[in-house]
Amino acid sequence: MTKASVPGGIPTGMDLMQNPRLNKGTAFTEAEREAFGLIGLMPEGIDTEENRLKRIMLQLAKKSTDMGRYIFLQSLADNDRTLFYKTIMSDPVRFMPIVYTPTVGAACQTYGHIMRRPKGIYLGINRKGRIAEILRHWPEKDIRFIVVTDGERILGLGDLGTNGMGIPIGKLNLYTACAGVPPRMTLPVMIDVGTNNEALLRDPLYMGLKQSRVRGKDYDDFLEEFVQAVQEVFPRCCIQFEDFANVNAVPLLERYRNRVSCFNDDIQGTAGVAVAGVLAALRITGKPLTEQRFLFLGAGSAGTGIANLLSQVMHQAGLPLEEARARCHLFDIEGLVVESRNDLASFQRPFAHKGEQLRSFAEAIEALKPTGIIGVSAVAKAFTQEVIEAMARLNERPIVFPYSNPTSHAECTAEEAYKWSEGRAIFASGSPFPPVRIGDKTLVPGQGNNVYIFPAVGLAVYATEASRVTDGMFITAARAVAEQVTQADLDAGLIYPPLSGILEASVQVAVKVAAEIFKEGQARVPEPEDIELYIRSRMWRPSYKQLL
Ligand code: NAD
Repeated sequence: MTKASVPGGIPTGMDLMQNPRLNKGTAFTEAEREAFGLIGLMPEGIDTEENRLKRIMLQLAKKSTDMGRYIFLQSLADNDRTLFYKTIMSDPVRFMPIVYTPTVGAACQTYGHIMRRPKGIYLGINRKGRIAEILRHWPEKDIRFIVVTDGERILGLGDLGTNGMGIPIGKLNLYTACAGVPPRMTLPVMIDVGTNNEALLRDPLYMGLKQSRVRGKDYDDFLEEFVQAVQEVFPRCCIQFEDFANVNAVPLLERYRNRVSCFNDDIQGTAGVAVAGVLAALRITGKPLTEQRFLFLGAGSAGTGIANLLSQVMHQAGLPLEEARARCHLFDIEGLVVESRNDLASFQRPFAHKGEQLRSFAEAIEALKPTGIIGVSAVAKAFTQEVIEAMARLNERPIVFPYSNPTSHAECTAEEAYKWSEGRAIFASGSPFPPVRIGDKTLVPGQGNNVYIFPAVGLAVYATEASRVTDGMFITAARAVAEQVTQADLDAGLIYPPLSGILEASVQVAVKVAAEIFKEGQARVPEPEDIELYIRSRMWRPSYKQLL
C-alpha cells in the first residue's frame, strides 16, 4: 500500500501508530489494518475500547504514587490521545487531582527531570521577531485555545521557569475532559524570559533559558509580539493567561481584554467560582445579596478580582456600583485597605474606603461586621478561633471561604470553621477538605475549584468564536453554577455541584454563557435556534473514529 493510495491522506504503518490523534493501538479493525499497512505490526487480537481502558486501569493500579500515575498518563496522551481522555473522563474525581492540582504542582517542580518528550510551543525571548514563524511550526492550523504562562507564579510554588509548562498542559487537559473542547484545537504555550529560581539555573536537567528574568519594555514588547502573532496565525483563537506573577497578570489583562479574545483564569475564573459560592450560600441563608458585606483577607489578584465581580453582581441586584463596592473591604499585609493609604495599586483603589487603617483582622471584623470573609492571602491559620467565633456571633450562618492554596496555606480548616461556629459556618475552601462530623450531622465542605468555570466558559467561547471574553460571561457562568446546586447538596452544606458530574454541569453552564455571548453581540457565528443542541454538536468525545 503506497501513501498516495491511502484514503483521506491518513499516514500508514508505524507513522499511523505513532500519531496520538489517530492511533487506536490494538483496536484498529481488520479492514483498517489491511488498508493502512498495519498487518503484523501488532498481535492478531482485535480489542474493544472497553478492553483497552481496562488494561490502562490495571496498569495504573500497579503504580504506587500519584506522580507515577501522572507520568504514565502523560505518556499515554503522547501515545493514544483518545484513550488518555477516555481514562480521565471515566472518573473525574479520581483523575483530576492527578492531571491537575495537587500532582501537577509536584510535577512542575521536577519537570526537567520527568519530561519524556516536549509538548506545546516554547517561545524563548532570544527568538524575538520570529514568534509568528514559530507558531506556524505547530502541525495543527486551526487553534482556538491557547493557555500561556511565563512560569513566574506557578500555583503557590513561585517561579518555576519553563518547568511551569505542566500547568498549561494540565489546564488544557481539563478544557477537554470537563467540557469537551476538541484537543487538537488547543495549544499550550510557554513564554521563556528566563527564571530567577537559582536552583533551576544550577540544575543541568533544567531545559529553559539559563538567564535571569527579562522585565520592563523588552518583556512587554515580547508579549505584544506574541499576542499579535496569535491574531495573525490563529485568528479565531482565545488566549488564556495563566500563572503570571501579579506584577504582570493585572496589567496584561488590562492591556488586552478589550483588544482580543482573552482572559485570566487566576483573576476572572477565581472570581466566577467565588461568586457562584456566594450565590449558592445565599440560597441557604435566604438573605439578599444587596445586604451582604464581605471582608477579604488578601488584596492581590484573586482578592480584587473577586471583589470586582461580586460588586458587579450586587450592582445587577439593584445597588449603585459605588454602594456595592463599599460592601467589599480588603485587608492586606499592611492592614485594612483605606482611602488614606498611599501604597495602593490602581486596581485596589475602588475598594479603598473611608476609615481607620486597622491592623488586626479580628478588629476589622468587629468594626465592619461582615456577613462573609474570604481568605486569599496564602497565610495559613489566619482565620483564628477569635475570628470565626466573632463571625458566628455576628451572623446566624457566617460565610467562611478560606480560598488559599495549597492546603497547608488555607486560612483555616473545615473542621476549625465548623467547630468554632457550632456547625453554622457556610464553608468552601480552595483545596479540598474531608467531611466533618458535628454532633449527629455530617457536613461536606465545598471546594471553590475554578474547574467549575473555565472549561465551560472555554466551551462557549470556542463554540461561538467569541471575539471578546467579558465579565458578563463570568457572572453568567457563576449564576449557572450556583443554579446547579441541588437542595440535597445545600442540606449537606455543599455549595458547589458534585465534581463527578462536571461534564454535564459544564454543558449547562456553557449553554447559558453562549446565550450571553450572543446577547452581547460578541459571537462570530450565527445564533442557532437551539443553543444547547449547537453546543453539544461542537463537543469532542473520546471514542475511536472510523478511519475508513
Ligand atoms: P497575590 O500575591 O496577588 O496576593 C496576596 C495578598 O495577600 C496580597 O494582597 C498581600 O498583601 C496579602 N497578604 C500577604 N500576607 C498577608 C498577611 N500576613 N495578612 C494579610 N494579608 C496578607 O496572590 P493571589 O494570586 O491573589 O492568590 C492568593 C491566594 O489565593 C493563593 O494562596 C492562591 O492559591 C489562592 N487562590 C485560590 C483560588 C481558588 O481556590 N479557586 C484561585 C486563585 C487564587
